[in-house]
Amino acid sequence: ADRDVGGCGGPKPHIAIVGGGIVGVVLTLGLIKQAIPVQLYEQAQGFRELGAGIAFSACARRCMELIDPSIPQALVRGGAVSISDVEDQDCLRWIDGYNQYRPDEPEYQKPLAQIGGAGFRGCRRDEFLEELSKSLPAGVIKFGKRLETIEIQADGKIILAFGDGTQAEATAVIGCDGIKSRVRKHMYGAKNEVSYPQFTHKVAYRALLPMTDALEVLGTWKANNFHHHVGPGAHMTHYPVANHKALNVVIVLSDPQPWPDHDNMVAEGSREKLEAALQDWHPTVLKLVRRLPDKLNTWALFDLGDYPLPRYNAGRICVAGDAAHATTPHHGAGACLGIEDALCLNILLGQVCSNNNADLNHAVEVAFGVFDKIRRPRTQWLVNSSRRACDLYHQQEWADPSRRVKAETCFEEMRDRSYKIWHFDVDDMVRQTQAEYNRRLLD
Ligand code: FAD
Repeated sequence: ADRDVGGCGGPKPHIAIVGGGIVGVVLTLGLIKQAIPVQLYEQAQGFRELGAGIAFSACARRCMELIDPSIPQALVRGGAVSISDVEDQDCLRWIDGYNQYRPDEPEYQKPLAQIGGAGFRGCRRDEFLEELSKSLPAGVIKFGKRLETIEIQADGKIILAFGDGTQAEATAVIGCDGIKSRVRKHMYGAKNEVSYPQFTHKVAYRALLPMTDALEVLGTWKANNFHHHVGPGAHMTHYPVANHKALNVVIVLSDPQPWPDHDNMVAEGSREKLEAALQDWHPTVLKLVRRLPDKLNTWALFDLGDYPLPRYNAGRICVAGDAAHATTPHHGAGACLGIEDALCLNILLGQVCSNNNADLNHAVEVAFGVFDKIRRPRTQWLVNSSRRACDLYHQQEWADPSRRVKAETCFEEMRDRSYKIWHFDVDDMVRQTQAEYNRRLLD
């Protein structure tokens, strides 16, 4: 049943959230709804989400609803649409992206497999974040605050120091500062591998195409319905966003070379290079690629899969979202699971406030310990599963007709993995979170 997370009656911690991406903002809105004092610090001078697409599952949207109903409303206002032209009959659809079936062959339109039930809604990231930001009261977010250090004083106060020379004080810090998290580095130290994401040997190209272009190349059906085109060493994903005015296109290539600069995960790329890499692919894929802009950035896909965090918490400091479990995007679920994190933290901090705790610092420590226990297994599984999904999409066997049946056996596995993500029992997570917090507090 829906629950009202408001009504926080006891003494309240002052929460500092570092990072004003989707997870940081959603978490902040939930704390505001519960009247928990919160300050959000973002290094950029304003919101800086990309004009790229993102999709949220029904499960993630349910979490948003429980955190604050204004969040799914912002998603709708931000132009989110079903990834299928028939509302609530959405499917992920895998199609042969390689050069086996031509448009005049009957198999051409036939997907290799389809799996329904995610309830995905696609939107532009920048438009969603802009709508979300309208619900933030003035002064809650401070821009131009790049976190440099965190210090815990002898009296227990936590001091955050920023690049502009200013400082702030808080009872607790939640790092929502993304894949290169400074908060994570504070927790583990500069010499520890877990402080650094690793290159997964996949690179992505992403673009939004006007729907008119998409319709010309793909036809009405494909342009308005989610498709993964799979093949040896690459795949292309597309789905409609922005009230069906644009097609979100992501192309991922396997790349055996090391990434040259780990400080910079984005490099200048070109459509020419992409075309060369996909030259043997299906004409439809190539036609769509040719509609992309000449200059395209190459996004190196890093994650935290090689050195996962042993804990998401250290005392009254914790990390959530990509800061805790940055993943490759092959399940389209990194932000979705970050939203689940935000719900879990909202439940816990609501509990901290409602129990009239004599020792607020201890209560926050307990809460963050519970967060780690509840969230770490599922989110770290996602990181591994996403890598596996991409390997299945990029199987060399797709190019070999004699091994095609072998390649196709992957879809049963993809169904299981997808269902684990989509059919997560959010209400059970809420129950388990509350029960575990109460149990540990009594210990
Ligand atoms: P971020 O969005 O990275 O935000 C971190 C924020 O912290 C930034 O604003 C940054 O400026 C700020 N920051 C960083 N360091 C500091 C500091 N020291 N001080 C202050 N501020 C700081 N997920 C889905 O669920 N569905 C999808 O369809 C999907 N598609 C994707 C497609 C691609 C190609 C990629 C790469 C990812 C995709 N994801 C998707 C994953 C999703 O983008 C991320 O999981 C999500 O954006 C993470 O949000 P976040 O708020 O945790 O981190």
